[in-house]
Amino acid sequence: MEHFFVLDGEKIPFTPGQTIMDAATTAGKYIPHLCYKKGLSAHGSCRMCVVKINNRHFASCTTKAADGLIVRNRTHEMTEGRRTSLQLLFVEGNHFCPSCERSGDCTLQATAYEMGMLTPHYDHFFPDRRVDASHPDIVLELNRCIQCELCVRASREIDGKNVFALAGRGMASRLIVNSESGLLGDSDFEATDYAARVCPVGVFLKRTGNYGAPIGDRTFDERPISSQAATASGADHASDVAEDERRALGEVATELEAAR
Ligand code: SF4
Repeated sequence: MEHFFVLDGEKIPFTPGQTIMDAATTAGKYIPHLCYKKGLSAHGSCRMCVVKINNRHFASCTTKAADGLIVRNRTHEMTEGRRTSLQLLFVEGNHFCPSCERSGDCTLQATAYEMGMLTPHYDHFFPDRRVDASHPDIVLELNRCIQCELCVRASREIDGKNVFALAGRGMASRLIVNSESGLLGDSDFEATDYAARVCPVGVFLKRTGNYGAPIGDRTFDERPISSQAATASGADHASDVAEDERRALGEVATELEAAR
């Protein structure tokens, strides 16, 4: 028996046990999200993927798909709510898109473009956040952290290390590193860990190769995030590793070209 629900007027097939987000992503449909990643446990914290079912709001990454559900996702009301959440995220951290190494590769930035966000709208908080440059390969730029806990789950569920956690509450909430000094360089984190790849913003910065792809050639430069739902958004661990390798080869080719 075929199972399906309706998402913005389209039939979406699902297998029992799948969430609305999993089924939609598998079908190549875009439900905005920041803290969801295929292959990691769902968290339901960023609220970007909230959809409306029977006039009630549900996080689609934690709500199981069921036969005949009528799900509203890309409506004017939902877009407005998501834009407000994004504006709050931008003013609660320190995001400098024009100078950020991850500009064009950043899910937060791409989602803001998708939702038509033109200004932060609210006053910036300018929180005092640290930069952890203690690791030989990766710099942690915590000013950009949106506390989605993707790195926390990736480190625990894929890397088997438990390097990261969130501590504190409300505005005092922050990402911490599991080492005696609290510094990344004193933890057992390695640059090849999946935790280094899943961050939707620019917190994990490689010390070299950040500008391998010029502006215009980056992930969301050519196509908006909504048209990459089944690839960029829903990619699992294996696809992410393959993408990293593809990019690394591209960087080597660029370096060889420059050396000629
Ligand atoms: S460092 Fe990145 S992945 Fe980790 S909680 Fe912050 S935004 Fe999310």
